[in-house]
Amino acid sequence: TERTLSIIKPDATNRNLTGKINAKFEDAGLRIVAQKRIKLSMEQAGKFYEVHKERPFYGELCEFMASAPVVVQVLEGDNAIAKNREVMGATNPANAEPGTIRKEFALSVGENSVHGSDAPETAAQEIAFFFSGLELV
Ligand code: ATP
Ligand code: MG
Repeated sequence: TERTLSIIKPDATNRNLTGKINAKFEDAGLRIVAQKRIKLSMEQAGKFYEVHKERPFYGELCEFMASAPVVVQVLEGDNAIAKNREVMGATNPANAEPGTIRKEFALSVGENSVHGSDAPETAAQEIAFFFSGLELV
């Protein structure tokens, strides 16, 4: 079993899509083992997305992620990292498979409803960024 960090992004929380998105995770066999609603500052968003700081969309991405509350969560299951990315669908909703979160809910490549860790190392880092040991059982 494996854990991954998921974020329900502002475009989705603004449209009250948290429950529908969580149903997709649970239907795929992913267990929500921790979850909270927080509002990121620009500084926190910038730190979280530091790996993208040279990309042209970095400023826009950080402003978007700090624009409204997000739901951060830890998902657990067999191959949770890959399974979560499968359920999310392609980064650009135009390329996402039918039935995926991004195909059904994303507005654009930027406002694409969800984030998911991309590897075991980043999953561990990203979980520790948002959750303390006490919050993880
Ligand atoms: P995430 O890391 O959010 O799970 P991802 O791994 O599919 O998504 P990345 O390449 O890591 O995609 O990009 C991180 C985020 O940056 C994307 O989810 C998206 O919100 C934003 N992004 C990526 N490419 C673009 C772009 N061309 N224009 C605007 N925003 C973008
Ligand atoms: Mg990524």
